[in-house]
Amino acid sequence: MERVINVSNRLPIKVGAQLTKSSGGLVSALEGIRDRYDLHWIGWTGAEIEASQRQQVTQRLSDEYGAVPVFMTEHEAESYYLGFSNASIWPLLHYMQSYADYQDDWFDTYVAINERFAEAVLSCAKDGDMVWVHDYHLMLLPSMLKQANTSLRVGFFLHTPFPSYEVFRCHPRREALIRGLIGADLIGFHTFGYLRHFRSAVMRLLELESDIDVIAHDGRETRIGVYPIGINGPGFKQMLDSEQYREQLASYKKLYEDKRLVLNVERMDYTKGIPRKLAAIEEFLESHPDLRESTTFVIIAVPSRQGVDRYQKLIEEVELAIGRINGRYSTVTNTPIHFIHGSVAFHELCALYTRADVAMVTPLIDGMNLVAKEYIACQGDDPGVLILSEFAGAAQELFSATQVNPYNVHEVVDALKAALLMGREERRAAIEPMKERVTKQDAVWWANQFITDLAQVSPTPAAAPSNQKLSGDVLKRLTEADTRKALFLDYDGTLVDIVRNPEQAVPTKQLHTMLATLAKRDDLDVYVVSGRAPEFLEQHLGHHPVTLVAEHGYTVREPGESWRLYNDSVDLSWKQRVRPILDLYAATTPGSSVEEKRSALVWHYRKADPEFGRWKSGELIGELMESISNLPVELHHGKKIVEVSSQQVNKGEVMRYYVSKNDYAVVLAAGDDQTDENMFALRSPNIITVKVGPGDTAAAYRVSSPARFGEFLDLITEEISSQ
Ligand code: UDP
Repeated sequence: MERVINVSNRLPIKVGAQLTKSSGGLVSALEGIRDRYDLHWIGWTGAEIEASQRQQVTQRLSDEYGAVPVFMTEHEAESYYLGFSNASIWPLLHYMQSYADYQDDWFDTYVAINERFAEAVLSCAKDGDMVWVHDYHLMLLPSMLKQANTSLRVGFFLHTPFPSYEVFRCHPRREALIRGLIGADLIGFHTFGYLRHFRSAVMRLLELESDIDVIAHDGRETRIGVYPIGINGPGFKQMLDSEQYREQLASYKKLYEDKRLVLNVERMDYTKGIPRKLAAIEEFLESHPDLRESTTFVIIAVPSRQGVDRYQKLIEEVELAIGRINGRYSTVTNTPIHFIHGSVAFHELCALYTRADVAMVTPLIDGMNLVAKEYIACQGDDPGVLILSEFAGAAQELFSATQVNPYNVHEVVDALKAALLMGREERRAAIEPMKERVTKQDAVWWANQFITDLAQVSPTPAAAPSNQKLSGDVLKRLTEADTRKALFLDYDGTLVDIVRNPEQAVPTKQLHTMLATLAKRDDLDVYVVSGRAPEFLEQHLGHHPVTLVAEHGYTVREPGESWRLYNDSVDLSWKQRVRPILDLYAATTPGSSVEEKRSALVWHYRKADPEFGRWKSGELIGELMESISNLPVELHHGKKIVEVSSQQVNKGEVMRYYVSKNDYAVVLAAGDDQTDENMFALRSPNIITVKVGPGDTAAAYRVSSPARFGEFLDLITEEISSQ
């Protein structure tokens, strides 16, 4: 059975004299897949466990539940959980940036605790295991895990919204958080909107390329997907079939016999919009005196994060408003609001859901909101009405709910009145299709969807097997003594990493050492074949006895010679027609620019907004295709560039010339982009072609990154110098 290690902030097990399993939605979801996977839990114990007790607790958790605890002191919990997680990231993820506090020491603890979680996972994970990390408390964990063991299939699910990039960018540690997340192989969100915002943040903060469902980075891919969580289906079904529930329902029916019951259930959290809801209730009572006596509002506000200041202020605000409303609108026989600042038992909750004529679910923002779905699941033949904020993730699925904008108090009041007066058939028509959905697509279904997708990701970069092949046969051929060999090596993206500022992509010390060693050999010639200008190659590589090929083959410099044109009859008159087009795009696309090379013109858009740049690049290509069709040029859409270059100049042409002139027995050509495909197109048994990084290619081999390719060149160097 495949193993799934489930990692969440809290273990679903209460540690006391006895270990007791709690029954949250996540627990029921994962319990539902136990028959298919060997499931293990890792999480914080919740309360501080004394050092002397930890070993014993660890043992009991392992023996009884196969779970691994993460311990932290009270001080650490304050900093990591109440501080960074709940007073810094939570408000920001919920668009409340003015509530978001930040302290460096909170972040330091957050890093340390994520590392502690990583240690706990690595202590029990076996190669190839699936590790499913949950929520905003552990945003750094995916990268930590992947760095330690690339064979793990790491999934991450965000249970909150992901806000617009414009909001997320406010966080002082935004890059670290996003970098932490993209370590995962699969990242799940409740809605497509959250996914879209996340992609936008990744593209802008990390300058990475992303398609709709995948982010390419570091020679690998992170998939992103939409997985709306559902309710604890079996738990509700079982409760609705129980005697305990039926008795409770009968008792509520009697208690509220002549009342219209409006139910409100939520954690006491500022995202839930309780003060605004109270404003709507107050306006309703004021404007509908005829309905006052017959309407009772039950508000169950489950205490939450009381250690965070903002939550304390909220409690005071809510209590004050409820006191005022009840004081003003109570009669001898009715108190408008029954307020419980606490939780109720599950059977009571289900009975209240069923009995309530209306549920008011009006968060200002909410990742999903399970209360809305649970309410629907508990409706029978004579159902109630769900008033649902359009800002809850659930609104994306529950189309026939009465959707409202919770910021518009009048609209909520009108919806409430309409709900109280709605006829039975209309209520049924609204609830039934939603009921089918929430009962079928429950939490177990959700977990299955996510894990099935996670199981399919390929944990190690696709390039790895080819890398092994390269270091076997190919290495042998390239290092065979007494044969003439040549290496044709592209520069950017092959010998050095692509960086934001091309001037900073200079050779590493290691590259210099390697070139120096290789170039010493009489039976081996090295060619650096680049799109760069000759001046750059001269400055950084000029002292090596290698052949430098600049501007994709327009100019060359053989060892000991000076630069010369490779072909001195190249027609460059087309530049006068192309340049004004590129200049116009540079002017209308902020951040983009035109570079004039001797045999090419390049429009760069790396510094432009990624989506705007991509769109304009498509437009530019369309326009160029029309205007250059009869010119002797090639059009190339590369990494954040559109290049127009002379047809008479290309890397393949230069390589072909040297290969036939020098009659090499074996040749290696390596490169990362489309201009290198001209080299890869030269097919011959003595030419070995290697693509560096992802993307379509005609090359026979692939390695994932310049770093991996560097390792391969090191092997060649080592082997050759030992001969
Ligand atoms: N809930 C509970 N005890 C209560 C009232 C509610 O356990 O007294 C549960 C409710 O059944 C629901 C959860 O709390 O499953 C609230 O989840 P939701 O997604 O609505 O909001 P969150 O608290 O996750 O922001």
